[in-house]
Amino acid sequence: MNDPTADIVVIGAGVIGTSAAWRLAQSGLRVVVIDSMAPGAGASGSCDKAIYLQSKRPGLPMRMAVESRAMYSTLSDELDADIEFAPDGGMVAIETESQLDFMKRFIVEQKKAGIRVELLDRDQARDHQPALAEHVLGASYSPDDAEVNPLALNAALADAAVRAGARIHRHREFLEVIAKRGRIEGVSTSTGVIPTRMVINAAGPFAGQVGERAGISTPITPRRGTILISDVQPRIVRGNLLCAQYVAAKHLADMPGADEPPPYGIGLSLGQTASGTLLVGGSREFAGFDKRPPRDVMTAIATHAGRIVPALKNVRIIRAMTGFRPYTGDGLPIIERHDELDGWITAAGHEGDGIALTPITGVLVRDLVTGERTAGDYLPHLSRARSTLNPRKQAS
Ligand SMILES: Cc1cc2nc3c(=O)[nH]c(=O)nc-3n(C[C@H](O)[C@H](O)[C@H](O)COP(=O)(O)OP(=O)(O)OC[C@H]3O[C@@H](n4cnc5c(N)ncnc54)[C@H](O)[C@@H]3O)c2cc1C
Repeated sequence: MNDPTADIVVIGAGVIGTSAAWRLAQSGLRVVVIDSMAPGAGASGSCDKAIYLQSKRPGLPMRMAVESRAMYSTLSDELDADIEFAPDGGMVAIETESQLDFMKRFIVEQKKAGIRVELLDRDQARDHQPALAEHVLGASYSPDDAEVNPLALNAALADAAVRAGARIHRHREFLEVIAKRGRIEGVSTSTGVIPTRMVINAAGPFAGQVGERAGISTPITPRRGTILISDVQPRIVRGNLLCAQYVAAKHLADMPGADEPPPYGIGLSLGQTASGTLLVGGSREFAGFDKRPPRDVMTAIATHAGRIVPALKNVRIIRAMTGFRPYTGDGLPIIERHDELDGWITAAGHEGDGIALTPITGVLVRDLVTGERTAGDYLPHLSRARSTLNPRKQAS
C-alpha cells in the first residue's frame, strides 16, 4: 500500500535536508523526509563545528555566509533547543613569511567585504591563544566567527521539522522517481511508494548518485575528510583555530614561495567541544566513498597539528571520524529547480561549509518552492549552469 500523498519528499536528513524540511513544514506544506540511515549519519555527523566567515571567498560565498551567520543568532530560540552555538571568534595561525604575505592580502579583501578581522602579531596571537607554538609568526582573528555542535544542530532541526508537521522516516532509501511526461508523480523507496509532485535531493555527498537515479546529472563529488578525536581535556583552545595553509588550500590561492604543502590536503582545523574533547582536523582527499583512510593520513594530521599546537602531542586520541564533503569545485552549493524533470530540486554540494550555510539554505529552498524572496538574491547563481562549477577539478 502507498503512503499518504506528500507535497514534498526530501531525500536526506542531514543538516541541509532537515533545515529545508523545517522551513517548508512551517509554510504549511506536507513534508516527508526519508534517509537511508538517520539524521546525522552523513557528513553532518562527522564534521567540525566551525562557522567561519574570515575564511570565505569575498563575493557571493561571503555574502551568503554572512547572512547565514546572522540567522544563527536567533536559531537556538527558534528551534527551542541548545545547539551549543558560541559566538566566540576564530583564528588563523600563520607559520611562515609567505603565509604572512598571503594572509595580509587576504585580510584586506575580507575587510573590504565587511568582515571584522585583524592581524595579530606573535605576542598578541599568543595572548589570545596561549597554546600556539613558538615559531607561529602571528594570526588573523575575527570576532564574527563562531561555532555550533553539528549533531545537536541536526537533531534540533529534525525535531523542529517534526513539530512543524513533517514526518521523518529513518532507514528508508530513495530508489527511483516515478514520473509521467516529465512530471514527478511519486518516489519509490526501499519500503514502498510515496505519492508526491515534488522531490528535494538533499543527499549531500550522495547527491550525485541520487540525481543519477532520477536521470538528473548532479555534479557533486565526495571529498573525504578525517578528524582525530581526543579524550576529555582541560580547555586548550579558545574558539576555533585554522592554519593559513588551510585557508590558502581552500581558495587554491597562489602563495608565491610557499613551502611544500602537507600531504592529503591537510590543514589544521582545531576545536574543543563543550564537554572537553578536541576535534583535530583534517584532511581533504578524493577517495570515492572509502571510509577507511590509510594510517598515514592520521599520522600526518597529528604531526601537522602538533607542530602548531605542541600541547596536542601529549593528548590521547581515542578515535578518528571520517566524513565526505559534498564537493562542487567552487565552494558553492547547487540549489536549483530542474526544468528537465518537473518537481525535482537539488539542494546539496556545500562542501566544507554546510554547517555554516545551514540556516540560509533552509530559507533559500523554501523561497525556491514557494516563490517568496525572503533571503538575498543568490538562487540565480547556484544553478548547475554556472561556469565556476567543476567537481572534477581536483578529483582527477
Ligand atoms: C571532515 C569534515 C569537516 C567539516 N567541517 C565543517 C565545518 O567546520 N563547518 C562547516 O560549515 N562545514 C563543515 N563540513 C561540511 C559539512 O559537514 C557538510 O557540508 C554538511 O554536513 C552537508 O550536509 P548535508 O545534509 O548536505 O549532507 P549529509 O549530512 O551527508 O546528509 C545527507 C543524507 O542523505 C542520506 N542519503 C544518501 N543517499 C540516500 C538515499 N538514496 N536515500 C535516502 N537517503 C540518502 C544520507 O544517509 C545522509 O544522512 C565538514 C565536513 C567534513 C567531512
